[in-house]
Amino acid sequence: MLVRRRSLGPGPGGAPLAAQLAAALFYATDRGWPVLPGAYLDHGRCSCRSPRCPEPGAHPGDEVAHTAASRSADVLRAWWSRRPYTVLLATGFEFDVLDAPAPAGYAALRELAHVGFASGPVVHLPSDRLLFLVRPGARDVYWYTIDHNDAAHLDVRHHGLGHVVPAPAGPRPGGPEPRWAVAPDPSDRRLPEAVDLLGTLVRSCQHAAARATHVREEVSG
Ligand SMILES: [Zn+2]
Repeated sequence: MLVRRRSLGPGPGGAPLAAQLAAALFYATDRGWPVLPGAYLDHGRCSCRSPRCPEPGAHPGDEVAHTAASRSADVLRAWWSRRPYTVLLATGFEFDVLDAPAPAGYAALRELAHVGFASGPVVHLPSDRLLFLVRPGARDVYWYTIDHNDAAHLDVRHHGLGHVVPAPAGPRPGGPEPRWAVAPDPSDRRLPEAVDLLGTLVRSCQHAAARATHVREEVSG
């Protein structure tokens, strides 16, 4: 009988563990961002094996508790020596995240650049959303802005304590990878306040929604 052993090596397709470990170490030790290993893609399927996985390769891995996010280089080396985990960042500690559809997010970035405002690091997810890293504690500002602008329908989300987000970590085997739309500045670790960014982001989403409505009316009219 042929027994297939589960590989403990670099993983399916020779996954670039070194790139993922290097990215995890940079986030944890250079930035101080708590990191945890996420499920990974194996021939296009999520390692959690659920046929209905809502976020393939973008949720915490089965072997590591959600609460175990770490900044320890030794812990990270041990994790990434086992599997080609994706790199996840725990939000709510060193930063919160504002999460918006990419077209509206890029429009907001252009508007912010136009007035000379530094956005801080921004991740572009394969699901075509942008993640804006902001200072932690953005929850109240988020809800105030969403309520104040009647913007609950605009699909701007907030990630704080208890959430994780995927982080860029080089090419992933079997799937598109998150990448930096705005990379972390090597010499500047400051993050913007949510209050300075959220209004612009909500306005961009409102404009995008108005344009979509206009197009729908033209098509149906
Ligand atoms: Zn999964």
